[in-house]
Amino acid sequence: MSVVGIDLGNLQAVIAVARNRGIDVICNEVSNRATPNIVSFGPKQRYLGEAAKTQEISNAKNTIVSLKRLAGRTFDDPEVQEIEKNFIMAELADANGQAGVKVNYLGEEQVFSNIQLIAMYLNKIKDITAAEINGPVSDCVITVPGWFTEVQRRAVLTAAEMVGLNCLRLVNDLTAAALGYGITKTDLPEDKPRNVAFVDIGHSSYTCQIASFLKGQLTVRGQAFDEHFGGREFDAVIVDKLAAQFKEKFKIDVYTNKKALLRLRVAAERCKKVLSANPQAPVNIESIMDDRDVSAMVNREEFEEWAAHLFTRTEEVLAKALENAGMKIDEIDYVEMVGGTTRIPAIKTTISKFFGKEISTTLNQDEAVARGAALQCAMLSPVFKVRDFRVNDVVTYPIKLTWEATPEEEETEIVVFDNNNSIPSTKILTFFRREPFTLQAVYANPEALPRGINPWIGQYTIKNVEPLNGEPVQIKVKVRLNIHGILSVESAYTVEEKMVDEETKNKDGEKEVKKVKKLVKTGDLPVVSGTTALPKELINEYTEKESQMYANDKLIAATEAAKNSLEEYGYEMRDKILGPLSEYIDPSIKDKFAEDLNAVVDWIYDEGYDAPKSVYVEKLDALKKVGNPVVERYREAEARPHAERALRDTM
Ligand code: ATP
Ligand code: MG
Repeated sequence: MSVVGIDLGNLQAVIAVARNRGIDVICNEVSNRATPNIVSFGPKQRYLGEAAKTQEISNAKNTIVSLKRLAGRTFDDPEVQEIEKNFIMAELADANGQAGVKVNYLGEEQVFSNIQLIAMYLNKIKDITAAEINGPVSDCVITVPGWFTEVQRRAVLTAAEMVGLNCLRLVNDLTAAALGYGITKTDLPEDKPRNVAFVDIGHSSYTCQIASFLKGQLTVRGQAFDEHFGGREFDAVIVDKLAAQFKEKFKIDVYTNKKALLRLRVAAERCKKVLSANPQAPVNIESIMDDRDVSAMVNREEFEEWAAHLFTRTEEVLAKALENAGMKIDEIDYVEMVGGTTRIPAIKTTISKFFGKEISTTLNQDEAVARGAALQCAMLSPVFKVRDFRVNDVVTYPIKLTWEATPEEEETEIVVFDNNNSIPSTKILTFFRREPFTLQAVYANPEALPRGINPWIGQYTIKNVEPLNGEPVQIKVKVRLNIHGILSVESAYTVEEKMVDEETKNKDGEKEVKKVKKLVKTGDLPVVSGTTALPKELINEYTEKESQMYANDKLIAATEAAKNSLEEYGYEMRDKILGPLSEYIDPSIKDKFAEDLNAVVDWIYDEGYDAPKSVYVEKLDALKKVGNPVVERYREAEARPHAERALRDTM
């Protein structure tokens, strides 16, 4: 059984697996420890991860980045229309009400929703993992930002489910990192908690989480976010400034040319990274547009000036996290950083200055989240034994339930899960009703939600309610916020106060039976839920389509492999029958065989370029029918002297 942690980053995913000797981050097919979060479509197949990255510029119109930013969003969401549109070159489209893309795939226009795109990518992640652990992959833990709401979490979970990933827990990025931190620290205090601030600045967002550690447990105390603060914002600053320079110096406007803009973005990111370790960085792009080459030199002070507005924003999140945790700066014992963007020196200094501390480096900033997720998976998986460690995570956004007033009850709402309520968590609510009623679940502070996210979570109708002797009945409703942070009404039932026998022991230890008044369950009530989950039929349709596309990609890959084998055989034998094999081939067939080999090689480059797999296989088999006996005779002859020698030696 697999024990896998997936840090689903907006730029790239990191995969970690738990093995007997510990947690390993695994490499993908080109030996990278992180896999680009990109999906690309072609006339014959899809390209996922690394393969999609190579298409990013050449096939920009059919390539989608920033998948995570689209998760759970609608097409007309202002975040999609105003922000993500600038990063995604493919045409955005409405896919069954969800944000999606319109691309050219298999020679026709096709629309895919964000959930489908995330599923495609997760399927690739699954494949990479399966290749590494040499076995099937199912159980996993996937990380999401703490600021993800229910609809966003559902999008990731549904995508995982579609590709057969059994996500044991959707865990917040920094909670995973904190778990990894806590479980490896052997010196955690028994009584006075150690408070650690974790800061993650990635590609598109920024989180600070404060957690308290005691021996064997961690408790998340507070968190704060900036959903629009990450590496891509810094890249954009460089792009903007350089675009202006190029306009003046080279008379070109990269904003009018998508490819040029993309190439400048790539160069800007590289420039930014170089500036993290060097005082200056050159930017050179050959024939960026209109046959112009451009070049520039950026130095670090200049960059820091350009991005000054971002650096000042760095502190805001830290201050807010402290406030939410109800702590003062001097209560923070350690500061740990994760995420690629914390490599920018000015960011590091700002954070360090804010806390008045050196930054600790216990965590591997690129891999801590994935490692923590793998540990969490190991803890939840029956196949592994991990040291006990309690993770008390908390609700990010308070959730309230509302309902209509009745003559008996004026109240119409309650905050069921408040800020800092732990997850998972169950609450039982009491209602007095004569007839069926409906609860609406909404996020209590819509203004705190990421922009564009509808605060509505779900609606739950409690059916079959009838008065008892003309009076309202007492109803208990069990509401659960599950391990993924998703809300449900688990059950509803009627209760009645009844006299029941209760057995107690008196002070002499003798049993006594007393009649006491007690609430007893008298019947279950059906609950009909409406949530932001996709309809089952649509998920089934998506799942089927995904497996078709997956099978098609595999077939294309197998066809390519069969073609390569045929080509290789053709070239190799053509040379060999003129060389080492020449005396072992019957002269009467030699010329014909050479001709056939030549014909096959020519055919591959001509009408055989795009043949079905079976044709390549058949042709190879036919050639081998002639070639194998020749090779066989050659081998026998080669082995003979050795065999004779061996025979002699034993005599
Ligand atoms: P997110 O957490 O926002 O979903 P992610 O997890 O994919 O995204 P990371 O891998 O943590 O993001 O960080 C990627 C970002 O870090 C990119 O914007 C990249 O340019 C930036 N980055 C990586 N190395 C450096 C460096 N040396 N200096 C500055 N920035 C860097
Ligand atoms: Mg990240």
